[in-house]
This record gives sequence, structure tokens and C-alpha cells, in this order.
Amino acid sequence: MSYNGYITEQRIDGADDGPLAGRTVAVKDNISTAGVPTTCGSAMLDSYVPPFDATVVERLKEAGATIPGKTNMDEFGMGTTTETSAFGPTENPAAEGHVPGGSSGGSAAVVAAGDADMALGTDTGGSVRCPAAFCGVVGIKPTYGLVSRYGLVAYANSLEQVGPIAPTVEEAAQLLDVIAGPDERDATTRDPDGETDYAAAADGDVAGMDIGVPTELVEGADDAVRERFWDAIDALESAGASYHEVSLPSVEHAVEAYYVIAMSEASSNLARYDGVRYGQSGGYEGNWNETFAAAREDGFGPEVKRRILLGTYALSAGYHDKYYKKAQDARAWVKQDFDEALEEADVLASPTMPVPPFERGESLDDPLKMYLADANTTPVNLANLPAISVPAGETDDELPVGVQFVGPAFGESAIIRAGSALD
Ligand code: GLN
Repeated sequence: MSYNGYITEQRIDGADDGPLAGRTVAVKDNISTAGVPTTCGSAMLDSYVPPFDATVVERLKEAGATIPGKTNMDEFGMGTTTETSAFGPTENPAAEGHVPGGSSGGSAAVVAAGDADMALGTDTGGSVRCPAAFCGVVGIKPTYGLVSRYGLVAYANSLEQVGPIAPTVEEAAQLLDVIAGPDERDATTRDPDGETDYAAAADGDVAGMDIGVPTELVEGADDAVRERFWDAIDALESAGASYHEVSLPSVEHAVEAYYVIAMSEASSNLARYDGVRYGQSGGYEGNWNETFAAAREDGFGPEVKRRILLGTYALSAGYHDKYYKKAQDARAWVKQDFDEALEEADVLASPTMPVPPFERGESLDDPLKMYLADANTTPVNLANLPAISVPAGETDDELPVGVQFVGPAFGESAIIRAGSALD
């Protein structure tokens, strides 16, 4: 049975030469591709064909990459399992009967299955790192502002970045080299200082590296996950690194703060889908209010509707200070905690996900359980920092486990170096 990794398999050829010539790079279906459908995993956009390329797609083409197709995803990036897609769930090629993680589950699955050499995902609260961990591949969430978001269909703009997924750290770094760098069409991008040859940083040389281990991000994980995590720390110590434990007291509020902010931004971003402008066929009767409501009723799935309602509530007069402003305060605190911990360490390490891949269907009716699985990934988006997930073996039940390294802003080289020591 097909594992349903792609939504569209329409090949897009790149230039004849370049650093990615001869390589295939699959693209998550919320990244605009000129002339090729871009659905965001939603019935709302099932007939939308963008007239332009996202900057990252332009850069792939210039680098000679072939795009074999657009990958399946949780609807608008809202999920952790790729089960909220209007195009059906994706299966995990590395763990039968289990989800591939999400929301970039299709991207991680096609790489794990060997149906693409590499892939692009997007990470708003873990959506590159979670599927990388669940499928046993590598995923990088870049520092906010390293990679252009021009042409990325917005879910929660202040949190998200496009990031590479690949079988090895070195290949993920090669793909990052191609997509990174300022873009005049995204004013939040900037030129990073320091070491920016990311592929060269994948040298595995961790001698003298100081690794901070945040207690709060380890103690909440399942035993089976913790065992693999400490094995990875042992391997890094053998390679010449040292570690010390650190505390990030604010992270206990990260999941709540993340969901309030992400849903608030989503409720505003998704207001543009009125059934008229983006290809949804329409045919509704009545005044604009009725047709608008009918299109949204038909076009959005239950998880997207839940988030629009909750986000609208959090932003409404009378509740704004109680929820949205509180979440912004928590976000500032999380950022400060990470910045302080990273003054005393080169990188921070933790399990990427506190649990191994869910069985299919397990978390669909329990959104809270799904949200809580984002405990280790969401704080990094709140702090706008870079992070990588690398495979760290499997549980006794043969389920993949990933280890996450977090670095200082624009410190991609440090996390790539740490991760490559485990390659
Ligand atoms: N699981 C998180 C969410 O549902 C993260 C999603 C993402 O990074 N796009 O919001």
C-alpha cells in the first residue's frame, strides 16, 4: 500500500548545473510553486495554482534541483501527525502502523522511503523536527530570519521558518546552504554573521564543545526515549564534548503560550479564505456573508475550525490581555531563559519529541495529547532560535527516536557540528 507521501507528483526541473544538480528535493505543499497546485493539505485550496514561485523554490531551481512533487501535510500545518490533511493521512515508512509526525509528515516520509533525496518542510512549532524524529531522518529549523518566507502560505508568521529534511546532517546542511540568506521580498530576513558554510560545519568535530542539557526537556520524556537520548550524550562525550545540566523554568508555559500565539495569528491569516479569491469553486447562493460562511464550513477541516475559533476568542476585546498578552509575556521569558542558558553552553540538547511515533489514529480525537507532544519543540520557535533533529537509534519496539540540538541565533554551524557527530 502506498504511504501517501505526495499530494501532487508533477515534476519541476531546475537548472542544468549547480550544487543540487541531479538531486531531487520534494517540497511541502504550503510552499508556492508556479503552475503547480499548492493546497496546504486543505480542501479550501484544492484547486489553487499559484502564479509565482516562493523564494526557496526559486533557489532550488537555480541550484539545479529537480522537484519531484509536493508533499502531504496537516491542513495548513496544524497538527503533529499528518492526519488532518484533506488528502488523507501519510503513513510512516520507518514504523509501520504509526504516524510520520507532522505537520511536514509527507516531506519526512518521502525522504525516509527514498522517494526523494531531500525535502523542504516548514516549522512553526516543530513541524520539521517532529516528522524528522518520527521517520528517522534529519531536520533543521533555521533561526527566524535566515530563510525567506516569501511564498510560504502563512500559518503563524512570527514563529515559522522553512527548513531542510535529509537522510544525513551533511545533506541537510547542503540544502540549507542553498535556501539560506536575505531576500528583499521578506523584510524579516537578514545576512547572518559568523560561520555560514553549513555543509563544511558538518565535520563531526565536537572536541571541547560544551553541551547544556535542560532538565525540564528531558524529565518529561518517556523512558525509552530518555535511554536513547543519554546514549547520544555518551557518544558525544566519547567524541570529546562535555555536558552539564541547565534549567529553563519558563518552558513549562511554552506549549500554552505557543498555542495561544499560533492560533491567534492563524485566525487572522486564514480570514483571507472566503471561497472567492483562491480557486475554491464556489457556486454558493446568498449574500456575501452566507457564501463566505458556507465556503469556510465546507473548505476547512475540524482542527482548522477549532483553531480559528480559539484564536479569535483569544484576540477578542476583553480577553486579549488575559490570553494573548500573557502569552507574549511568556514568550519573552522563554527567550530570556534560552539566551541565558546559551551563554554557558555552545548548544543545548534534549529529546526532539518526548514520545516515540503515535500509532495511527491514537491522538486524532485527543487534541490536547497532540498539543502536549510539542513540549520540546515549541519553546525553540517562541525564542526564534535554530534547532536540528538527528536520529538517535530506536526504542526496543523499533520506533525511531530523535535528539534535538538548539543553538544561539544564527548559530546553525554549532548545531550542525553537534548533530554531525551522531551521523
Ligand atoms: N504541532 C504544532 C501545531 O500543530 C506545530 C505545527 C507546525 O510547526 N506547523 O501547531
